[in-house]
Amino acid sequence: MATAEIMQEKVAHPEIRQTQCFIGGKWLPAASGKTFETIHPATEEVIAQVAEGDKADIDLAVDAARAQFDGGEWSQMDARDRGRLMYKLADLLEENAEELAALETLDNGKPIRDSRAADIPLVIDCIRYYAGWADKIEGKTIPIRGNHFCYTRSEPIGVVGQIIPWNFPALMCAWKWGPALAAGCTIVMKPAEQTPLTCLRMARLAQKAGIPDGVINVVPGFGPTAGAALVEHPRVDKIAFTGEDKTAKIIQRAATDTMKRLTFELGGKSPNVIFADADLEAAVAGSHFGLYFNQGQCCTAGSRLYVQASAYDEVVDRLAERNQARQVGDPFDPATEHGPQVDQAQFDKILKYVEYGKEDGAKCISGGERHGDQGYFVQPTLFANVTDDMRIAREEIFGPVLSVLKFDDVDEIARRANDTNFGLAAAVWSRDISKAHLLASKIRAGTVWVNCYNVFDTAAPFGGFKQSGIGRELGEAGLAAYTENKTVTVSLD
Ligand code: ADP
Repeated sequence: MATAEIMQEKVAHPEIRQTQCFIGGKWLPAASGKTFETIHPATEEVIAQVAEGDKADIDLAVDAARAQFDGGEWSQMDARDRGRLMYKLADLLEENAEELAALETLDNGKPIRDSRAADIPLVIDCIRYYAGWADKIEGKTIPIRGNHFCYTRSEPIGVVGQIIPWNFPALMCAWKWGPALAAGCTIVMKPAEQTPLTCLRMARLAQKAGIPDGVINVVPGFGPTAGAALVEHPRVDKIAFTGEDKTAKIIQRAATDTMKRLTFELGGKSPNVIFADADLEAAVAGSHFGLYFNQGQCCTAGSRLYVQASAYDEVVDRLAERNQARQVGDPFDPATEHGPQVDQAQFDKILKYVEYGKEDGAKCISGGERHGDQGYFVQPTLFANVTDDMRIAREEIFGPVLSVLKFDDVDEIARRANDTNFGLAAAVWSRDISKAHLLASKIRAGTVWVNCYNVFDTAAPFGGFKQSGIGRELGEAGLAAYTENKTVTVSLD
């Protein structure tokens, strides 16, 4: 069969193999015996019952992680051998890429073309990248006063609790596991209740790769129970969290007594700025991708699109054309570009914001409705004549709703772009490279893309200014977030 024909065939639903807690290398039901449902967002069908872990399971998982960290096999292992196990995990992920992509699509609803082309390849790349770091984590020698030899050691932070969201379940898992494993930490992960399946599958592959039992533990369950137990646990050294800013503030308070190290990767309301001198075709394509990719369920979504006045109408028209052409439908069809939102709550929230947009006086150019009558599909929605004070321009929607605003010059746009509590990402489109660099320097955000959008690479640090986060993930900076610096001073007398 020709490749093109294979590409057009609908992908089969994968088998679901792991649904229990993974603790100390064992697959266990929740201590309470409870389970929760996970559903396929395109059909609203229940696809699996998953163990609903809570405090008792977290306690067991922390014990297992501590045993490996406090003198267990992992703590004794040469760094290079840690790296080799991670390379093996990356190879197993690659061998199982098709299955993982299908599982991601089943649990999250994202189009199979995205899970195949983006999510899973990035997962593999992340684990492989950090495998290479395992034996390159070095300290310094420092010329202090007196007859002393002073050096630093970068030591693993310890047992890390990792709490992840549902928008990129496998990728968030890789972003958390990669640097933690390379640094020599041990892990208790709490995946999102909407999407526990790929994380559990990845844990099984980690076990097959030979990563010792207890190094990675996964406890599926809910935030206020399992998640909170992890955050409060006195024997957990750090929490790495990706999710909403509101949840991060709860975690920050709950982690105060035990003074855990915290890294947060949170939401955004990212400004995307198109100057009239930009390559408008590329700018429109990039801005469309920058918002509608993953059904708008991206923390970096370029949800405030500022277009310079003279190009405004043309950009709006071209965006509307693209929205009309966007293929919305069954995420298992490789032709589908736009799948359902992850669940009823997100679906309801997005449609509420569409109403806010209309109430506040924005002009709905395309979309604005549910797509079909089954599953959590929302049409790609475009609002023009949006002003800075409208709720759709201020609050994170986390859905396929793009607001287009108008601006006149660089000084004005820098001020307006920064008028938000968020600071995760931004983009600038212009052929005038000096102007693009100038704006990139003025925007207070962790990532600024110039003439591109959503370009992620494992080697490049990612994270937020202001209320979009604390610390950085990816790259060397992401690794540093999993180490403690120790100074050793030796008398030479
Ligand atoms: P989203 O709106 O994207 O679901 P959340 O911040 O609610 O974002 O969820 C992200 C992750 O945080 C999920 O794994 C969720 O279960 C977890 N979570 C939610 N509430 C808490 C909490 N109080 N303590 C710890 N984790 C939580």
